[in-house]
Amino acid sequence: MARIESAEAERQAVRLAAQLMAAAARTAPKTRGMDSVQTLILDGEELEQLAAAMESQMEEKSHRLPFIGRDAGSVRKAAAVLLIGVTGEPKKPQDPINCGACGYDGCGQFLAAEKAEGEDFRGPLCMFQTMDLGIALGSAAKVASELNVDNRMMFSIGTAARKLRFLDCDVVIGFPLSVSGKSPFFDR
Ligand code: SF4
Repeated sequence: MARIESAEAERQAVRLAAQLMAAAARTAPKTRGMDSVQTLILDGEELEQLAAAMESQMEEKSHRLPFIGRDAGSVRKAAAVLLIGVTGEPKKPQDPINCGACGYDGCGQFLAAEKAEGEDFRGPLCMFQTMDLGIALGSAAKVASELNVDNRMMFSIGTAARKLRFLDCDVVIGFPLSVSGKSPFFDR
């Protein structure tokens, strides 16, 4: 029987946990039965690329996101990062809900509006897509918790990941993942 040292076992565990979290995001309930959730797992050199992109945004964003540099340090301590994002378009526009939660009179008016790039994300977003994202994030976090893999949801990862075009989504949130004796993502 082959020996698997603890560092290698833990590396494999984080990779597997990220995959199972991505699966949970996929099978999480989706409003109107339509799914625009996208996921991506990063490890190795791409973590450094992500952390460097976050640091490059510090000057521009630290007045709003004073934690962005600290979050970049968390990415460097992570064994992997899972990205989860959504696009914001209304679902089934041929059979619109027209709820008005996006601030438009209805889905048709939403669709006629120009998409606009904001400081971090692109809008507008249909409320139902943001609900899907929240449910997917919660489902992924639950899996990580059940697998005892340290994690934390980070907005600041998502803004840098969009800049790097890791996912073609309007909103992205990132989870750094780690297996160690003390979570590097809290009490920083
Ligand atoms: S949030 Fe806007 S786009 Fe989404 S269903 Fe309601 S009116 Fe339509």
